Amino acid sequence: MIQHHDLPLGKIDYCQVCGSKNLHDVIDLGHQAPCDSLLWPQQLDEAEKTYPLRFQVCKSCSLGQIDYVVPAEELFFPDYPYRSGITATLVEKLSKTAVSTLGRFDFPEDSLVMDIGSNDGTVLRAFKERGMKVLGVEATNIAKIANENGIETIQAFFNEETAQEIVKSHGHAHAICATNVFAHIASMGSIIRGVETLLEEGGVFVTESHYLMDLLETVQYDSIYHEHLRYYTLKSLIYLFDQYGFTITDVERIPNYGGSIRVFAVKGTDHEVSSNVADLLAEEEAYGLYDTDVFDKFAARTRKARDDLQQMVLDIRSRGERVVGIACPGRSSTLVNYTSLNPDLMPYIAEQSTSLKLGLFLPGMHIPIVDEQRMFDEEPEYAIMLSWHYAEAICNNLRKKGLKSKIIVPLPEVHILEA
Ligand SMILES: [Zn+2]
Repeated sequence: MIQHHDLPLGKIDYCQVCGSKNLHDVIDLGHQAPCDSLLWPQQLDEAEKTYPLRFQVCKSCSLGQIDYVVPAEELFFPDYPYRSGITATLVEKLSKTAVSTLGRFDFPEDSLVMDIGSNDGTVLRAFKERGMKVLGVEATNIAKIANENGIETIQAFFNEETAQEIVKSHGHAHAICATNVFAHIASMGSIIRGVETLLEEGGVFVTESHYLMDLLETVQYDSIYHEHLRYYTLKSLIYLFDQYGFTITDVERIPNYGGSIRVFAVKGTDHEVSSNVADLLAEEEAYGLYDTDVFDKFAARTRKARDDLQQMVLDIRSRGERVVGIACPGRSSTLVNYTSLNPDLMPYIAEQSTSLKLGLFLPGMHIPIVDEQRMFDEEPEYAIMLSWHYAEAICNNLRKKGLKSKIIVPLPEVHILEA
């Protein structure tokens, strides 16, 4: 049992949720630079900071975690190049947070709904369209884009102090969302206490986080990076929220980011709990998440996927054929660096022309990110789909635009999609 959930920086040797030291080391992905620390050309002349990237699981509460905390300001710098509104698939998925929440909770018109790490306001827009009052909290400069687009957004890190100020300025909230952010923040305790301060009694904290079962099932080792401090199971989340007087009343698995769980944690203890909760706990146990074998199998599949991809790329290059990368989500950094795909092997990564990442370089291997037009012009024989969790949608789109390259999908097992 730990007294609070606000982590120190650097190496940690206990479970971030339950405090147990009974941890099982699953895989070491080497020292890596923070995956979203894309570099400007002039930074290529400087030294680059890297940190250990090791994945482990708690044998007591079944939380997956990494064992090193990098300072937030090095991970979420003000020019953070990720914008959720960009892909149509993602916009559609993010709007489901509103549909699912408002389908379960009967809030009066004009209730306040907030989003922590609200990015460009995509999640909140869907609530606003359904009659809710909305307020975002976003630490990076993307807050400005949200405000320009009519989603009121405070540019700040969310914590207890921010929460107290918001209560004074905006009153209490009926719902607070944290989509794809709740597993990222070292000061998890401060967030939950802030949420408790802000929520009405009976209000709901809706979190969406990458789900540990999906990570193992589809070998998503590339979603392990420093921003993702924790990889939740339902069991570990129940343990966590119980300590703050919240009840997890419902849960659902959702496809976002290659497989996530959406959890509804209601403020207070006497709330009815859906049978979905017991069902998913049983599923976790049956899958083996409360044991270590399934994690060791995951590590073996990870190493095989890396070796197979390396070998395939070397074979292609030895035939004098070309390989480029397609799409540059945060996770591509882990995959490219763990697989040692340097610019000799893969000279660039193609991104759509609206991407904020064009002109930057992937950390570690320093692969330039270029407008996808170059790929269409050059027609390389092969392209590695680095956004492989959205492979189907992106491939269809690229084929329609005329891409003829064979597309290599690197995970769960390396395979090729012919044109
Ligand atoms: Zn634990």
